[in-house]
Amino acid sequence: MEKKTPILYIVVPCYNEQEVLPITANLFKEEMNRMIKENLIDKCSKMLFINDGSKDATWDIIRKLAKEDDLFTGISQSRNRGHQNALFAGLMEAKEKCDITISIDCDGQDDIHAMEDMVKAYYDGCDVVYGVRSDRKSDTFLKKTTAQGFYRFLHLMGAEVVYNHADYRLLSAKVLQALSEFEEVNLYLRGLIPLVGFKSTAVYYSRTKRLAGESHYSFGKMLSLAFDGITSLSIRPLRLIMSLGVFFACISFLGVIWAVAAKIMDQTVAGWASMVSIICFMGSVQLICVGIMGEYIGKIYMEVKHRPRYIISERTEKHENKDK
Ligand code: UDP
Ligand code: MG
Repeated sequence: MEKKTPILYIVVPCYNEQEVLPITANLFKEEMNRMIKENLIDKCSKMLFINDGSKDATWDIIRKLAKEDDLFTGISQSRNRGHQNALFAGLMEAKEKCDITISIDCDGQDDIHAMEDMVKAYYDGCDVVYGVRSDRKSDTFLKKTTAQGFYRFLHLMGAEVVYNHADYRLLSAKVLQALSEFEEVNLYLRGLIPLVGFKSTAVYYSRTKRLAGESHYSFGKMLSLAFDGITSLSIRPLRLIMSLGVFFACISFLGVIWAVAAKIMDQTVAGWASMVSIICFMGSVQLICVGIMGEYIGKIYMEVKHRPRYIISERTEKHENKDK
């Protein structure tokens, strides 16, 4: 069935991006105008910037862009909440206003020409189109190995993620509606979208270096995202504790037989050192296990609180329902 020309919202989280935003905003504008001209997307399509509590002139730039051109619009979070939250805020903001969204970073690393292929895949009936990196040439050795190792580890831990896909993707309004019903606070969108389902496909592109400015993902932040990804998507670590418990119970059983045998043969003093090592080892394993459980209990705690995932403090556009 032929679909009507869809309204596209490009959703772009921005945190301290004053150097790169003026450059990429223009590139995005050109690409959108081209797609509008080719009748691929509706002329009401927009670029939605989410200012994630930036401390520099990012929000001023967004406001200026929105004032000069109707194509641009923006919202500002009341404080920095991180990439995933900012992106979620943008998607939920766009949900009622468009037919499709494409989320993309504002630093020009992702090839904007892949958007056309994404929209075409939507015409072919896909509700989710993943932007997948065809190579990792632009990454440092450290980023490349940690990222690839992480995808494998996530898979091993039972979480379903698309290999080499970050947050460059097309989502239809239907998917956004379904996504809004996930009420979790610890957001890891890459893992959540496959859970939402719907017909999906991938579009391949090559990722380049940032056009300007610096990455906001330090090694520490990447590790924390990875840890969030695993603990919010999978309960396999909890099951591993059980397996570990059974494994060490077997070993302890053998240890007891050995200790009893040693006692019968009057060799108890010689076994002292090894017993102490076993006690220490068990102690450390228990500590690790309790740590992992603590992580999950922390997550339950956060979910139970039902805190708002984002709070919008300002808008460039008047709120439709209120200000009529
Ligand atoms: N970002 C954000 N909030 C943050 C950190 C990053 O909204 O706390 C945005 C940032 O402006 C960019 C995107 O998330 O558009 C990806 O960040 P970055 O390019 O620094 O990450 P990298 O590409 O190096 O992984
Ligand atoms: Mg980047």
